[in-house]
Amino acid sequence: MSKRMHSRAGIPLWQKIMAGLVLGIIAGWLLGDHAQWLSPIGELFINAIKMLIVPLVFTSLISGIVSMGDPAKMGRIGGKAVALYLVTTAFAIALGMLAASILQPGIGVEMQMDNSVSPGEAPTLTEILVGLVPTNPINAMVEGNIMQIIVFAIALGISLVLIGERGQPAIRVIDSIAEALYKLTSLIMACAPVGVFALIAVVAGQYGLAVLIPLLKVIGVVYLACILHVLVVYSGMLALLARLNPRRYLTGSLDAIVVAFSSASSAGTLPVSIRCAREKLGISQGVSGFVLPVGATINMDGTALYMGVVALFVAQLTGTDLTTADYAMIVLTGTLASIGTAGVPGAGLIMLSIVFAQTNLPLEALGLIAGIDRILDMARTAVNVSGDLMVTTLVGKSEREIDLDIYNNKSAGQGS
Ligand code: ASP
Repeated sequence: MSKRMHSRAGIPLWQKIMAGLVLGIIAGWLLGDHAQWLSPIGELFINAIKMLIVPLVFTSLISGIVSMGDPAKMGRIGGKAVALYLVTTAFAIALGMLAASILQPGIGVEMQMDNSVSPGEAPTLTEILVGLVPTNPINAMVEGNIMQIIVFAIALGISLVLIGERGQPAIRVIDSIAEALYKLTSLIMACAPVGVFALIAVVAGQYGLAVLIPLLKVIGVVYLACILHVLVVYSGMLALLARLNPRRYLTGSLDAIVVAFSSASSAGTLPVSIRCAREKLGISQGVSGFVLPVGATINMDGTALYMGVVALFVAQLTGTDLTTADYAMIVLTGTLASIGTAGVPGAGLIMLSIVFAQTNLPLEALGLIAGIDRILDMARTAVNVSGDLMVTTLVGKSEREIDLDIYNNKSAGQGS
């Protein structure tokens, strides 16, 4: 699986994907509105990856649980993952707020707003908890409700272990389907350079400089803070807590990061993340098949960071003085809102209204951000996915569920 597989031209896949990204930006700028013609190609690529999500999460989770064979270990891994997800998210939002306080992107931007818009209804905690258990697992799969699929797969996986010998036939079938789905992910990823090119060309063609220039500063702050979060916080945590070379984590995660960036969907990127974790970072199937789907659903560091930057940006723009309690409220509501954010394009903007409502910031300002949200969405989704992979690597290392030969091998899984 980790064998070196270069294309005929000898260029590794990740370099071709990066080339697709850069060429896509150039093509989009040159083509302008005409870049929309490329949109079916991008959609085809994303649909192909999304096609894998439900069967891959279901089968790889069950096969991972069975391979661990110990429900107590599952509980421990889940606990570690959720704790790390929460800590990194709170860190991200604080970093976003710090960057926005220092760089002040909202100062000098002219805008008029009123306070008349009322917030949408967010679900209550009880509703969220009750909704975790599906009444009909097939329905959960049809709707693509990842959290409910996770709950059902865990329950079924544990039961298969508990029935011992009689569980073997089902386990073998599920294992073999999971393996085939990994293979299919690799085959679809071979088309990633073209898919990423088309996706990014459409976005670059859509946003002319006229839309971007007034808000260039807030875009710059979000991007800068996102890059710092990945390069300093994630790399630092890996180096200090797990004694792993962060460069390998970054290069090993690159395919998933680029697909996340160009698709703006962390749920949609999940099959690619699982593949990176297994084949390039050497994380066991048990840990990656469990920690990554949970992360794609609840861990949104990039989204939290973006909420921190935008909340402060709007406060600066409207001359609103924020108290210490307001800052604490932004961290708290931002962390919770990011957990509730779905891993689909644009979801973070909707959840941002919760933070605004709690801190009395004008909801009208969301309209201003909506105009450039896709540009911000790409960066935050890339961080969301990087965060999932970082926590998965940390948990994998602490559970000794990492193959260090694969992790440290530069050419692991390359191009395959
Ligand atoms: N698009 C983001 C994601 O899929 C969610 C968001 O809008 O913040 O991770």
